Amino acid sequence: MKEKNIEFIGTGGGLKCDNPNCDWSDASIEFKDMAKWLNKPCPICGENLLTEEDYKNAQALFAAINILNEMSSEEIDDIASVIDIEELKKSNIFKNTKGIENLGQEKVIVSFSTHKTIEIKEITPLNTDFKLVIIESPFAGDVETNVAYARKCAKDCLNRGEAPFASHLLYTQAGILNDEIPEERELGIKAGLVWGAKAEKTVVYTDLGISIGMKLGIAHAQACGREIEYRKLY
Ligand SMILES: [Zn+2]
Repeated sequence: MKEKNIEFIGTGGGLKCDNPNCDWSDASIEFKDMAKWLNKPCPICGENLLTEEDYKNAQALFAAINILNEMSSEEIDDIASVIDIEELKKSNIFKNTKGIENLGQEKVIVSFSTHKTIEIKEITPLNTDFKLVIIESPFAGDVETNVAYARKCAKDCLNRGEAPFASHLLYTQAGILNDEIPEERELGIKAGLVWGAKAEKTVVYTDLGISIGMKLGIAHAQACGREIEYRKLY
């Protein structure tokens, strides 16, 4: 199948409450189902989730995307060759766009909003050159806090263009291994070290201190001659 000129990440839809004091959102709502949400109240704050105006903006944007997707790559190149970024910046759609200079890149990720007016929020280059990294952060002890922290670390890596691996997030899930059974814990650590050998870098997240398990990981990274970077999230 021919690659689309514009591909949606996720459902290509999603709704979020516009009330700045409310964090309700549902990324799983698809654009084709949006009409069902017209003038429905937010389940948390009761504000209108989707006004006629916002829905029309979304429809207009999706129609434009469909037209662009009908075009051949030659036709797209023709259009791209006459686009003047300085002129583009003067239009309302692009006036607050972060990273507009990235339009020159071959592939980009575009995030947009259709609330009140169509706005292109940010343009970032599509990174296809991820660096493999191993995350070291605490696990044992306050597991709930540590897991929440490790998830934030994974997100931080992804935001930096890295593909992270964290054995303590994966193997400790219910039905995989039990960290409280020594043999299983050891199995998880060993498997994690094997993954680590494939990584380019070990990233140690230090906000919650450096646990014994983390020290093992660091020692292993040193023994393998792998780059080690210490980071804080806060
Ligand atoms: Zn709300």
